[in-house]
Amino acid sequence: MTSSYEATRAWAEAADRQDPLRDYRERFLIPPHDDGQTLYFCGNSLGLEPREVREAVNSELDYWGELGVEGHFKGRQPWLSYNEYVREHLAELVGAESGEVVAMNTLSVNLHLLMVSFYRPDATRHKILIEGGAFPTDRYAVESQIRFHGFDPAESLIELAPDEANGTLSMQAIEQALDEHGPSTALVLLPGVQYRTGQAFDLETITRKAHAKGCMVGFDLAHAVGNVPLALHDSGPDFAVWCHYKYVNSGPGAVGGAFVHARHAHSDRPRFAGWWGHDKATRFQMGPHFDPTPGAEGWQLSNPPILAMVPLRVSLQMFHQAGMKTLREKSLRLTGYLEWLVDSQLSDTLEVLTPREPSRRGAQLSIRVLDGRERGRALFDHLVGQGIIGDWREPDVIRISPAPMYNRFQDCLGFCEAVKAWREGP
Ligand SMILES: *Cc1c(COP(=O)(O)O)cnc(C)c1O
Repeated sequence: MTSSYEATRAWAEAADRQDPLRDYRERFLIPPHDDGQTLYFCGNSLGLEPREVREAVNSELDYWGELGVEGHFKGRQPWLSYNEYVREHLAELVGAESGEVVAMNTLSVNLHLLMVSFYRPDATRHKILIEGGAFPTDRYAVESQIRFHGFDPAESLIELAPDEANGTLSMQAIEQALDEHGPSTALVLLPGVQYRTGQAFDLETITRKAHAKGCMVGFDLAHAVGNVPLALHDSGPDFAVWCHYKYVNSGPGAVGGAFVHARHAHSDRPRFAGWWGHDKATRFQMGPHFDPTPGAEGWQLSNPPILAMVPLRVSLQMFHQAGMKTLREKSLRLTGYLEWLVDSQLSDTLEVLTPREPSRRGAQLSIRVLDGRERGRALFDHLVGQGIIGDWREPDVIRISPAPMYNRFQDCLGFCEAVKAWREGP
């Protein structure tokens, strides 16, 4: 496949014409730059706005204006059941049963809520295993949970040091850590795709090996959902959490997602309760005794923020229509093209850090700028000035994520040409 790539406009435009998802780009607002459009590679941070969102939000505003409180029961999609309008597509996106997923809160909040239930340390089993260099919120969350239970992070927080050249983790390193710490580990919490390196993890194997040691398993799928195919039910973790504003394009601060495996659907583990998690059949009897609704929805606290649920509903519909399989096929080819361009055209300036095996990554390539931070920063600023939007990670890494829903082969070529022009100087 590699040999079929070419670094020419003609090749890239032909590849875009043959793209089965080519019409999706039109359904997004692409941020403008000068007289044209940005080359937007930041879907790993904030996905673009689907055009349909504005009208869909306005329509709920209209219902509110026309119906007031009756909007809970009337209108095309009564607010009372709003969660159910996203549930099926959400389950499809993450490979879960519909009772295993819920859209609620935001990622950090969901991580805490599920750790309340699935991190239950005792004197022999009190550790949490995470990857070294984890996203700050994950580290803060686990550290604070450890302290909350009266343990000391110095003993109970195990951070797996990367053992591969570019800061990635081998399965062997995870196995070794499980051999060493498994019996004293209460929770293994790893990413689906690591935010910094772009490494994708084998969720099924990690879960199997961690369960074999008696650990609970949770995943942070912030960079995985909508990016790589997921089969959460079959992979079998106890829980997972994610956000929807990255690859799922549901807007800044979008409502997050959570998965609780069916084996815990009727769990009597401790949980923090709220009225929206109460058995739906009797919720409005307003009794004093909390009786959780089965499945992930039983972890809800509040009634959902309808105006924030709308973009999620619209985006999930688009993922349902496009299909994760087709998106992934394009993504493999699109990111493969970007990788090929960097290797074949820019290797004196840039170096790909993300794993080379397509099965070990999603859309994102983390690209190191050779010759240090200053030069890297200068290149990054130059790209932004040209309307090429990636993001910068200290000390010398640019993350470029061609999202298959709206990015084109010619976008990747545009990035390559801009780096070449900068390298050759004014
Ligand atoms: C984006 C991201 C978050 C963001 O957390 P919020 O609670 O949504 O602000 C957390 N963890 C990881 C790994 C992320 O990539």
